[in-house]
Amino acid sequence: MDIIQSGEIGERLRDVRARMEEACGRAGRDMREVTLIAVSKTHPAEAVLQAYAAGQTLFGENRVQELREKVPAVQALLQDTGQGASLSWHLIGTLQTNKVRYLPKLEGLSMIHSVDSEKLAVEIERQYEAAGCSVDVLLEVNMAHEETKKGLAPEEVRGLLEAIAPLSHLRVKGLMTIAPLTEEAESNRVYFRDLAGLMRDLNRAALLPAPMTELSMGMSGDYGVAIEEGATYVRVGTAIFGAR
Ligand SMILES: *Cc1c(COP(=O)(O)O)cnc(C)c1O
Repeated sequence: MDIIQSGEIGERLRDVRARMEEACGRAGRDMREVTLIAVSKTHPAEAVLQAYAAGQTLFGENRVQELREKVPAVQALLQDTGQGASLSWHLIGTLQTNKVRYLPKLEGLSMIHSVDSEKLAVEIERQYEAAGCSVDVLLEVNMAHEETKKGLAPEEVRGLLEAIAPLSHLRVKGLMTIAPLTEEAESNRVYFRDLAGLMRDLNRAALLPAPMTELSMGMSGDYGVAIEEGATYVRVGTAIFGAR
């Protein structure tokens, strides 16, 4: 990782929050509708603590193994410094069925962004039921039909929703997408807009006990555009923690 000077993470966080606010302003949205997920993957627990010191309490990781190491490492650091931990974690990356069993035990893990098959959803249901708790999930949609990316095709989402609606230990809160890597944030606008449209259409079909409300979309390069198109979660790594 980059060597990050103390305080630099706080500065970058303030910058990202200011840009989020500007995007909200352009879209006539309230900043409270959009939640920043600081994506700390590959960065050490110390970097998480710096962000926490700057007021950030929600973090994202893309690998189960890294979460299993970092959650207790951050807790230990917080204890050392006498701070009460009130951190939340979201799993934003690909989840393999055989790793689901580790998740209910992870303190503060409150959402899984990457559900894209019935098999995975059923395993989440099974493991959380066994643990006596439940979890919020998003369905990952591959809006640009990129072959290298995981996620459901937009036309597959409805079928999965119908299949998993009866599961009671996972609550489907909304949709997530990873837009193509591009220098031109504007070129991803169509995918963000279409994801928002897809959620509206699906909500009209009323397949779930409660309508979906969350749209996880936008990363360091394009979170402003994503907010303009209705993002409720943006997942920002590089712009906060530096290059990986
Ligand atoms: C790494 C990652 C991000 C953050 O990417 P940046 O470009 O560093 O902001 C967002 N979402 C997912 C799923 C990721 O894996």
